[in-house]
Amino acid sequence: MTVRTTCAYCGVGCGIRATVTGERSVRIEGDLDHPANRGKLCSKGTHLGETVGLEGRLLHPMIGKRRASWDKALDQVARRFRETIERHGPGSVAFYVSGQLLTEDYYVANKLMKGFIGSAHIDTNSRLCMSSAVAGHMRAFGEDVVPASYDDLDVADLIVLIGSNTAWCHPIVYQRIRARCDAGARLVVIDPRRTETAEQADLDLAIRPGSDVALMNGLLAWCREAGALDTDFLDRHVMTPDGFWEQVGEGSDLWSVARACDVPAADLRRFYEWFAATPRTVTMFSQGVNQSLTGTDQVNAIINVHLATGRIGKPGAQPFSITGQPNAMGGREVGGLASTLAAHMDFAEENRALVQRFWASPTMATKPGLKAVDLFRELGHGRIKALWVMATNPAVSMPDAGRVREALAGCPFVVVSDVIADTDTSAFAHVRLPAAAWGEKDGTVTNSDRTVSRQRALFPLPGEAKPDWWIIKEVARRMGWKTAFAYDRPAEIWREHVRLSTYRNDGKRLFSLAGHGAGGNAEYDAMTPFRWGGKPFADGRFPTGDGRAKLVKVTQKAISEPLKDWPLTLNTGRYRDQWHTMTRTGLAPKLARHREEPLVEVHPDDARRLELVDGGLARLATPQGESLYRVQVTDSQRPGELFTPIHWTDRTSSGGRTGLLPRPLTDPVSGQPGFKSTPANIGAV
Ligand code: SF4
Repeated sequence: MTVRTTCAYCGVGCGIRATVTGERSVRIEGDLDHPANRGKLCSKGTHLGETVGLEGRLLHPMIGKRRASWDKALDQVARRFRETIERHGPGSVAFYVSGQLLTEDYYVANKLMKGFIGSAHIDTNSRLCMSSAVAGHMRAFGEDVVPASYDDLDVADLIVLIGSNTAWCHPIVYQRIRARCDAGARLVVIDPRRTETAEQADLDLAIRPGSDVALMNGLLAWCREAGALDTDFLDRHVMTPDGFWEQVGEGSDLWSVARACDVPAADLRRFYEWFAATPRTVTMFSQGVNQSLTGTDQVNAIINVHLATGRIGKPGAQPFSITGQPNAMGGREVGGLASTLAAHMDFAEENRALVQRFWASPTMATKPGLKAVDLFRELGHGRIKALWVMATNPAVSMPDAGRVREALAGCPFVVVSDVIADTDTSAFAHVRLPAAAWGEKDGTVTNSDRTVSRQRALFPLPGEAKPDWWIIKEVARRMGWKTAFAYDRPAEIWREHVRLSTYRNDGKRLFSLAGHGAGGNAEYDAMTPFRWGGKPFADGRFPTGDGRAKLVKVTQKAISEPLKDWPLTLNTGRYRDQWHTMTRTGLAPKLARHREEPLVEVHPDDARRLELVDGGLARLATPQGESLYRVQVTDSQRPGELFTPIHWTDRTSSGGRTGLLPRPLTDPVSGQPGFKSTPANIGAV
């Protein structure tokens, strides 16, 4: 039996043809007909078949250390949430969910929290990944719409990658970029690190971390001076706030920008000249932009340039936010962030009324809820008294993870629904619920370029595992909302999601799934990948009240000087062959060969000064915590900067605990944590 499904890992969203070859074995091939990958797979996707065994799985509901029946476990979850709400109000409970959930799972969780519990304290680990892009899109476009698609890369003449090691983190997209470069397009990489992606670029700008706004404002000023603005597009389709150009011009001469970004002026000039002269330019950005304390401003600085030069909504001319997780976008579409309501709507009064009418819900969240970092802070302060964590591992992945653990330990009631029995987070759970894994569950995911694909089951559910949507709706029904959560299969949830996206949608909201799988179950089962929204903004209309996009005034914030006790700057990120906290990739031995242990990358000058030797051990410390790493001395780091991977946990290693190190500081607009610039120190052990 061969099944068309989608990769479990990243936001590229590659299609897979999976042929079941035994009870729990499968042959994996790329799907030639999937528009995201056209048959190709990277190392992680290729080795998915090695990860479908039942090793380490949670197969039965557990209350404390004891196995329990589903009825007993669900009753307990529903009762404790209901009692907590009755005693302390709807704001005393929270869900922390995941970009690993399928859209249908996300939809039911969001509906339960926002429309029935009546709070918006549901946030997702996607907050850590791309919420600055969401906030930037909403400020500029009025709606969280990604205008670009992968097809744009095939016709671009200049591709600019900002804060993205695409060759490692989105390998199949990178192959597409390379193919376009082989056909003559130029590649510019803007990244403080000289990554594998940067090494292959025509131009590599290793800017000072956090200087992106200066860089892009300088580019905008250059384009204006060079006559490269699209004044007709600006006049007709873009709202320019008072004083915008004066602000852009301030400190944006080539020399000042080169100094602010700490790059050679000649390289900067080359980038600016190439951009100004190349109408078909795609600027793709990722975590290096989003995971900054000024991430939203950086996103808008990029979008400003594209709007002002008319490089948007046209083939090969787009700003392009690329997401990390397989279904971060599906979560955004249903409103799975604390800051959005549903179907790309915010909490405006008319939206609340519309969604409440559609859901026929008894109560509705009236305002945005707690974003991830604030949510765990409030958990620590005792304001959140019951928490349900779904398909994610915040005890490792949140910044200041040590404090998150203390907060989890102090919470009166923690539920964890997960695939894995023992995670760093589930150690704090009062109830653990066994969820279906990739290869067992059915539903939809949306990738970085808005392509919606099906994930399909290959194997029967093992033990007593259940799909996440089923678990959530059973709790909702036990809390008293039987009719609103009477789903028997994911197709019914999908149809409701489609109907909500079109409900009283007079075309002002671009997000619409009209015509996609709204028919019967057979139509859902046969669904082939599709991209919603066609070519957004191709007609120059934006989903703002007046149809015009907005330039956003952004200024470069002062970059703080190194602190006396913490003279270095720590940056964190991914390895090519691992995924998040390695609960799945750790099962594939071949993937460990690329990097067998967590390394701290150090520039040779720093290594000499601090007497660190390549291959030796070092203790890396920040004001938040410390951990042990093996040292890699490399001039791919800028002097004064360190890099460590995010994947290792207490369960997999005695060192490399990167989650303990970053500060719980966030971008003020998006609430996304700034993982990329933590003050640090390091010493040999
Ligand atoms: Fe999977 Fe991403 Fe690799 Fe594609 S690029 S195979 S989606 S991990």
